[in-house]
Amino acid sequence: MNKQDFAKQRGAMVSRQIAGRGVRSPLVLDAMRSVPREAFLPVNQGEFAYEDAPLQIAEGQTISQPYIVALMTEALGLQGGEKVLEIGTGSGYAAAVLSRIASSVYTVERIDQLATKAAATLAALGYHNVHVLHADGTLGWPDHAPYDAIVVAAGGPAVPQALKAQLRIGGRLVIPVGPDRQLQELVRVTRISANEYKTEAIADVRFVPLVGEQGWGSSVPAPPA
Ligand code: SAH
Repeated sequence: MNKQDFAKQRGAMVSRQIAGRGVRSPLVLDAMRSVPREAFLPVNQGEFAYEDAPLQIAEGQTISQPYIVALMTEALGLQGGEKVLEIGTGSGYAAAVLSRIASSVYTVERIDQLATKAAATLAALGYHNVHVLHADGTLGWPDHAPYDAIVVAAGGPAVPQALKAQLRIGGRLVIPVGPDRQLQELVRVTRISANEYKTEAIADVRFVPLVGEQGWGSSVPAPPA
C-alpha cells in the first residue's frame, strides 16, 4: 500500500469510526486525519492501521483503537496551544495526535524499548513538540508541571495523586480507572481549585494495566533499561 492509499483509508476511518460515533471537535478530527497511524505499527501490521481496533505493538503492549484516542483527546477539551502530559507513550501515536493540537506534549513510558522506539518514530516524522521520557508515569513528569491537560493510556486502580497535583487549576485529567486490572471506567477529573476536583464518568473501556508506584504492582517486572 502506498502513501495515498493510506491517506484514503485514514479519511474513511475518521468519517466512519470517529465522526460517525459522535466526535465533533474539528481540532480532534483534523488531528486524526493528519497522523499516519501505519507509521507507528510494526512493518508487517501497516495494512491493519485503519481497522476499528487496538493492535499489538512490542513488549505485549497495544496501540489504542483510533476511536478511543479521539474520544480521550476530545474529553481533554483542548482549544489549541496547551501543555499536555501523556502517560503510556506506547507507539507514540496518541502523542502525535495530541501534538497537532497542543503546543507541547510530554509523554512518559515505563518500558524503555517502547520509549526509545516511539521517540525515534516521532522524530523521524517531524513531531518535534513531543518529548519522551522513560520513567514510571504514575509519578507524572514534575519538571514541566503544571499541565493544562493530562491523559493516561493505561488503567489504574485509582487516580494517582501525583497526577492530580501536576494538573493546573482548571485543567483536565482523563484516565481509565477501576478495581479490575483489565476493565475500567474512563473518567475525567477537572481541577476546580487547589484542593477540589470534579469527576465525571465518560465510558466503559478496556486498557492494559497502569503499572507503577501509584498504579498496579508489577507481577512481571519491566525489562531492564
Ligand atoms: N498511547 C499509546 C497506547 C499505549 S498502551 C499509543 O498510542 O500507542 C499503554 C502503555 O502504557 C503501554 O506502553 C505501557 O507500557 C504503558 N504504561 C503502563 N504503566 C505505565 C506507567 N506507570 N508509566 C508509563 N507508562 C506506563
